[in-house]
Amino acid sequence: MDRVFDLRPNDYVMLVPGAFHVPEGPDDEAYLIGSRCRACGATVPHPMAVCPACVSADTMEQVAIGQRGRLYSFTIANAAPVGFTAPYFQAYVELPEGPRVFALISDDVPVEADALADGMEMELVIEPVRKDEQGRPVLTYKYRPVASNGTGA
Ligand SMILES: [Zn+2]
Repeated sequence: MDRVFDLRPNDYVMLVPGAFHVPEGPDDEAYLIGSRCRACGATVPHPMAVCPACVSADTMEQVAIGQRGRLYSFTIANAAPVGFTAPYFQAYVELPEGPRVFALISDDVPVEADALADGMEMELVIEPVRKDEQGRPVLTYKYRPVASNGTGA
């Protein structure tokens, strides 16, 4: 596939608009767009106006989170929604910022039970999950083990 940062914004669509940052160059890092409460420090993995912990309004600020995380659990799904290909990994990744997020796993990782292990250090990548009706890649965030840097054959 093309490297994500070679894509211009009109060349792709996001599976969940506003949920993550697509790198715009080789030195630009992908991240999830979360919110953190200035009052109590609660962090959630998506934009939010009112703090879910202390219910303060106007205390949530946007933060970049999720560049790294730890694999909490995973399963192999053998049935896929339309447009997706089974089998594929579904995982929960625990972020150092606090939240635990549902995530897919990078296409770099073979879909085999022993390819992952709970507790693994994971890094965020942005990858296509499918193409839309106009043939544009639909991007989402995924994780892969930090050791697997995608440069291996
Ligand atoms: Zn709060």
